Amino acid sequence: MNEYFYVPAEHIIDQHIVIDGEEAKHLARVLRKQPGDLIWVVDGNGTAYEAVIRLATLEMVECEILYEHVHHHEPDVDVTLAVAQLKNPSRMDWVIEKGTELGVRTFIPLQTTRTIAKSPKEERWNHIALAAMKQSGRCILPKILPPMSLDIVVANAQQYDMKLIPYERTDHVLFISEALKYRKPPRSVLIVIGPEGGFTNEEILTAEKAEFIQVSLGRRRLRTETAAIIAASWVVGNE
Ligand code: SAH
Repeated sequence: MNEYFYVPAEHIIDQHIVIDGEEAKHLARVLRKQPGDLIWVVDGNGTAYEAVIRLATLEMVECEILYEHVHHHEPDVDVTLAVAQLKNPSRMDWVIEKGTELGVRTFIPLQTTRTIAKSPKEERWNHIALAAMKQSGRCILPKILPPMSLDIVVANAQQYDMKLIPYERTDHVLFISEALKYRKPPRSVLIVIGPEGGFTNEEILTAEKAEFIQVSLGRRRLRTETAAIIAASWVVGNE
């Protein structure tokens, strides 16, 4: 498996990539890369590059691009995962890391009736998302939006081809795989996941009016973070 290095798009000009800071140190000091070595670089914006090193110092590594791969390792479907904020912040870290590995493009910390509001940890989450993007060989850095109420998320949901609300209460709801099977593959999917106390009946009704599909993830009651990752994994499928 290749190791991927992150370089912001503005450091990639014409056929040249300039790597500095920690990534340069890692390349030159730890990996002892030399001129002539090939590396993979991702820009977080949708492109991966195969490049050859032309100059390597501890401060700066300069490369020349050989090949460009648009949407390298990205799923076709654009997944947004809105997850009720969790009491224990390390569980949200886990959602961001695993969701990024799976191919989620946008995360929304969600506030619901039964959610305990938490201050967002933007810097920490962005750092986790960046590391997970490189680790998994993706080339899009997921966006982490500021916390939003369920009402706002539902009110802005028309932009998605499909909207799913995993709900554990009803026996007659569709299993998530059935909901995905009966339609042509959606280009964008919004998934909203409730807090440990669950969604209220009113919240479910509001989502239903906005054409969210209630889906089951099985008969067992899953924790919020487990439900989030299982749902995202079904939506991304085997791409
Ligand atoms: N209300 C529940 C627990 C909620 S679990 C209770 O206290 O009894 C947290 C969230 O995960 C739910 O709001 C739902 O979105 C999702 N979830 C958990 N298990 C699920 C399942 N088996 N099917 C669908 N969604 C599930």
